Amino acid sequence: MKILWRGMTLACGVCGSRGLFKKWGMFSMRQNCPRCGLRFERMEGHSLGAVAVNTVVSSALILTLVSLSLVVFGTNIPTSRLLLIATPVGVLFPILFDPLSRTLWNAVELLMRPVSDSELDPRFQIDSER
Ligand SMILES: [Zn+2]
Repeated sequence: MKILWRGMTLACGVCGSRGLFKKWGMFSMRQNCPRCGLRFERMEGHSLGAVAVNTVVSSALILTLVSLSLVVFGTNIPTSRLLLIATPVGVLFPILFDPLSRTLWNAVELLMRPVSDSELDPRFQIDSER
């Protein structure tokens, strides 16, 4: 849970360090954690997992939004109104969620494939941080 929480709060899953992104624009994640040295792209194609997380969460949000709209406004709601409700969310949410999807995917990946000492800065003590 601690690792997932760190992922959900834009922190490193191993050490909890912040500042994983170069700017607040947040589209440029650092290659390595500034504290423990974990390389975030742990294997080739690693970032596809973050894209998948983003796609699943964004799709679920849009589906929920459309479903709620159908419940609130009834099934006779014009398609244009549904699009007016869903499109801004469908465009903006994946962009805003991108940084979180990356750190969340890193956390999930750490749970599936625990970090080894060779992936971390030698000065970093894993046991003292977990
Ligand atoms: Zn770290």
